[in-house]
Amino acid sequence: MRLSNRCYAVTGLGYSAPWCVNAGFVAGDRLTLVVDTGGNALAAQTVHGYACAARPGNQLRVIDTEKHFDHIGGNGFFRELGIDVWGHAGIARPAAEFEAEIAEFNDAIPSPARRARGEARAFFHGTQLANPNRRIDADTRFDLGGCTAEILLTPGHTATNLSVWAPEDGVLYTGDCVVCEYLPNLDAGGPADWRVWLASLDRIESLRPAVIVPGHGPVARGGEVQAAIGAVRRVIEEAIARGASPTAGGVA
Ligand SMILES: [Zn+2]
Repeated sequence: MRLSNRCYAVTGLGYSAPWCVNAGFVAGDRLTLVVDTGGNALAAQTVHGYACAARPGNQLRVIDTEKHFDHIGGNGFFRELGIDVWGHAGIARPAAEFEAEIAEFNDAIPSPARRARGEARAFFHGTQLANPNRRIDADTRFDLGGCTAEILLTPGHTATNLSVWAPEDGVLYTGDCVVCEYLPNLDAGGPADWRVWLASLDRIESLRPAVIVPGHGPVARGGEVQAAIGAVRRVIEEAIARGASPTAGGVA
């Protein structure tokens, strides 16, 4: 969906229930910055198609907001097209971890017949693991032609999380630093990481975004932005007080 003059969201891409995952892009005059690639090659095809249709002829560049496979699973699709994928220097997923993710997907299929057929392979059809080929280890600014995109390190959910800020349009792509409707996933770290996450929330709140594209869930606009950030902050503060993630022991 189009959010502003330059910014678009591609929402509702598939992942393991109940999760769907978001991506998006910022279209400059000569460069379109794709934010996340979905969980598989088919999602990447969708994101790529929208990005090309919105601004035909633009060069494409990809940025990953974090290391988890729901955000980087489509990287291989873009790399096969010769498109650079930028991401935090800490994103380097070994092939064995990707194979384990596919196995976990398959184990979670309720139907024994589909499990036996290995239908998780259908979800990951054509999907090749590809890590970023361009590294980010500090805040960075991309000139997209006629507009800029600021890459801001916003760690906490993982150490590799970053956000993409389109200042002229007031649109912020947060990755999983903010999720809407879902409980945030705190299981990738502990209280020290969660305190870092709170500082990242302070940082993005200070930008006063008009629109947030969260890593998961519906886009937040206007007063929903403050509410979405506040909801994540409360969950983290409670987890720090209890010393435990609200979903500890589960899979998220
Ligand atoms: Zn995610």
